[in-house]
Amino acid sequence: MSNAEFITPSIDDLKQRIRFSFETGHVWLGEQRMLLMHSEAMGSLRKELIETVGIERAKGIIMRTGFHAGVADAKLAIQLRPDASDEEQFFVGPQLHQLEGFVRVTPLKFEMDLKKKHFHMKLLWGSSYESEEHVKAFGISKESACWMEVGYASGYSSEYTGQSILFAEHECRACGHDSCVSEGKPVAEWDNPEELTKYYESDSIVDQILDLRDEVVTLRTSLIDVEEKNCKVIGTSTAIKEALALLGKAVQGPVTVLLLGETGVGKELFARSLHRRSDREEQAFIAVNCAAIPDDLLEAELFGVDKGAYTGAHQSREGRFERANGGTLFLDEIGDLSYSAQAKLLRVLQEGELERVGGTSVVSVDVRVVAATHANLLERVEKGEFRRDLFYRLNVFPISIPALRERPGDIRLLVDSFIARYKVKYHKEIKGITQHAMAQLEIQPWPGNIRELENSIERGVLLCEDGEKIELQHLFAMMNIEQSPEAAVSPTGGLKDVKKGIYNQFVDMFFEAQNNLFEMEETILKEALNRSKGNMSKAARALGMTRPQLAYRLGKLDDKE
Ligand SMILES: [Zn+2]
Repeated sequence: MSNAEFITPSIDDLKQRIRFSFETGHVWLGEQRMLLMHSEAMGSLRKELIETVGIERAKGIIMRTGFHAGVADAKLAIQLRPDASDEEQFFVGPQLHQLEGFVRVTPLKFEMDLKKKHFHMKLLWGSSYESEEHVKAFGISKESACWMEVGYASGYSSEYTGQSILFAEHECRACGHDSCVSEGKPVAEWDNPEELTKYYESDSIVDQILDLRDEVVTLRTSLIDVEEKNCKVIGTSTAIKEALALLGKAVQGPVTVLLLGETGVGKELFARSLHRRSDREEQAFIAVNCAAIPDDLLEAELFGVDKGAYTGAHQSREGRFERANGGTLFLDEIGDLSYSAQAKLLRVLQEGELERVGGTSVVSVDVRVVAATHANLLERVEKGEFRRDLFYRLNVFPISIPALRERPGDIRLLVDSFIARYKVKYHKEIKGITQHAMAQLEIQPWPGNIRELENSIERGVLLCEDGEKIELQHLFAMMNIEQSPEAAVSPTGGLKDVKKGIYNQFVDMFFEAQNNLFEMEETILKEALNRSKGNMSKAARALGMTRPQLAYRLGKLDDKE
């Protein structure tokens, strides 16, 4: 049948199926809940989809949405016109779509024989909301834009005929044509079926996102590894530069280095950095915290054990010295070493030889020792707790690492690097740290040094909302604010020192915004007057000045005007 013979049936039966149930907040089409939505809202959804997932993905999503609607309407069609001819019954779809406000449909060609599985249709689409919205958002485009209509026609026809019918749009108003023209036929009759069917295959975007996420995690982890391997000591202060310069001198050669400094100043990082820059870089770096291993196990741990040395020593085992052979051994908290272990260590340092616990044979090792302590070793020597000969042997090349409070200028750099590290570790998008929080970090005494600062920042990153800056409250619980002289109550009971901090921030903000001092003064004076409801004396008090002083300044403003 061609369109010349086909007379569009009356739409009255469809109209009656639309019911507005205002009381319950429903619009019904038969048994299906419908929505009266702004086409502009759909247009903005469409625009956002295109901009976020790309035009091909957006097209697929919208076509599948249309397809779903078409399938639902086809089920309704069969109920609605049970006694009509196939063509009249089929035409429920185009008419419903028109009634629903998507598009006006005029058949140009309509051939359908359900028994012979024949289907060929050409449609003229007028007033397509999609082409309108598309042009509004993107202007005239190269490709047709009535994706939901194409999806609807395909879904409807496929569901109704029981075979895969696909529509394609040949002309579209979004491309500058006078109207939209589409064609529908069985999938096998298209020259390029894959081009059309690919949009109806469920998009694996979720899988792809999960794959990408795994990839990002892997990349981020390897980034952290690289960062740790680089062992970069961060800081530009004179104190840290002096320590680094000394370290640089010790890089070449096997000289034993003694790192001095409070707990948490980064002694192991110094040791690793020394190892990295030395010609031992390719060999092992082994770190031992002498304070963390019980006395009776420490010797075996360091120097190894021979089979049968004590009950339970069923097998011979290398100690850390042997494992560090050719490389660097970092001995932290060296002051905690037992007296007998000290003798063994001295022998290794002097002769490059050791005996395993319970053994008799001598093992030669080539190990650079970097020792570290937060204790005053000389004091221990005086007390007879530490061997004098070992102390002098270790103290050949001492390097003092400054406490964090001795290098406050480095805090900002450290904070930036910790934020960078932990936002990667916790997959958070942190925008940095507020000026208020930063100012507080810079005046903290930091008894736990860099490690304490790092813990604070890690906590801050964890507590901070995604996309926000770390605030003081996020760091607060880790910090003892009361210890800070800047934050203490002054002898007069005021909080002047705290205010000073606020002023500094204010000054920062002032310069960042490139404000004008006169405008700022004017704003503050007028606000004072405003708040005191025009009472000059009150306003002057609020500003910390006398009434004549305020009058004078306001007079100057008037002169300017
Ligand atoms: Zn179109």
